[in-house]
Amino acid sequence: MVSFIPVLAHSDFSFSNLPWAAVRWSDGSIHLATRIGDRVLSLKALRAAGKLASWPELDLETFNRFIDRGPEAWSAVRAELIEAYREGSSWEHDSKRALCECDWQDAPAVLPVSIGDYSDFYASRQHATNVGMMFRDPENALLPNWLHLPVGYHGRSSTISVSGTDVVRPNGQRKGPNDPTPVFGPSVKMDFELEVGIILRGGPTDASWISVEKAEEHIFGFVLFNDWSARDVQQWEYVPLGPFLGKNFASTMSPWIVSYEALQNSRCAGEAQEAPLPLPYLQQNRSSSHWNIELEVALATPDGQETVVSRSNSSNLYWSFAQQIAHHSINGCIIRSGDLMASGTISGNDPDSLGSMLELSWNGSKPLALHDGSSRTFLEDGDTVVLRGRAQNGGRIGFGECRAALLPAKRWQK
Ligand code: MN
Repeated sequence: MVSFIPVLAHSDFSFSNLPWAAVRWSDGSIHLATRIGDRVLSLKALRAAGKLASWPELDLETFNRFIDRGPEAWSAVRAELIEAYREGSSWEHDSKRALCECDWQDAPAVLPVSIGDYSDFYASRQHATNVGMMFRDPENALLPNWLHLPVGYHGRSSTISVSGTDVVRPNGQRKGPNDPTPVFGPSVKMDFELEVGIILRGGPTDASWISVEKAEEHIFGFVLFNDWSARDVQQWEYVPLGPFLGKNFASTMSPWIVSYEALQNSRCAGEAQEAPLPLPYLQQNRSSSHWNIELEVALATPDGQETVVSRSNSSNLYWSFAQQIAHHSINGCIIRSGDLMASGTISGNDPDSLGSMLELSWNGSKPLALHDGSSRTFLEDGDTVVLRGRAQNGGRIGFGECRAALLPAKRWQK
């Protein structure tokens, strides 16, 4: 499948990708869009030019209502885009085409969905084991429930921002093992979390669940997700109700939603779940329950130079996305279109495949060397974290960047 728009070999946005994003168009308004190579295509402008009959005529600024229409509607738009932009299409030489396209640098992305609810899982066994060893007890790193259910918590959608938005180091309470009382101030253990998120289509509103077999019909697409974490705040506050202010001050999402359909040739097996076998409502054929998405984290110092600090893969998740959805809805919890579920930090078995500074520096005890000769245990002000991810399907199915810089804490005054 080849487009008349040229795509460089290293581009994340091959013709098989056709991801979804919301961008600020040249007239200042928000357009929903897709992308081939370096060209951003406005779905609204294509509809106006008579090229995209299946795109709803609504003046949409987010994908929520389109997501509601379901997989057939998503697929129809994708098929029309392929037909219009394939090599040999008459659209290439149509005079109206110029009005529908621009260079990606002229179309800054905004959040593509209005995220109603955001939940974060903890679905990587290696990550949960590592955190359990550091925060609790190396002998009993995984808590008794972990192999029986996808552990998760409710996050906050209000502080999710799109790639490129700066993050401010939070103030908060912490208490180290040797502090007699808690202290207040800027977090001294700022961290990233390498995650993959899914953007969901709503489920039944009659308090019935989404089965594990049907769960993937509710995945509109995938994003990269940096769930910024203040480890010192987290460690002091998290018992007994779980993450709170150590997590909800910022999360960064990649702007391009890679569609479920584009990733269909990137399926792979998940780890066997035999000891213990999950309860029936979570049981799933594991032969293609996961995705082979290569992931990396780069840390850029203020000079802009990057050091890749981690290389992981979404196949490292123990609990699949379908299991996360099935579990989330089994009690009657309503899932709405535009909701976001994130996987939790995705760590692999190798020391360079760990998805957080907490694990890479082993809670600060093993500094990480950067390209410029400096080292890090946790993040410093001025550091920029960049997540990247890609799968293959004929061409590269990439996510673009999930990038944000860390700014100094605000001075707190009573
Ligand atoms: Mn997380």
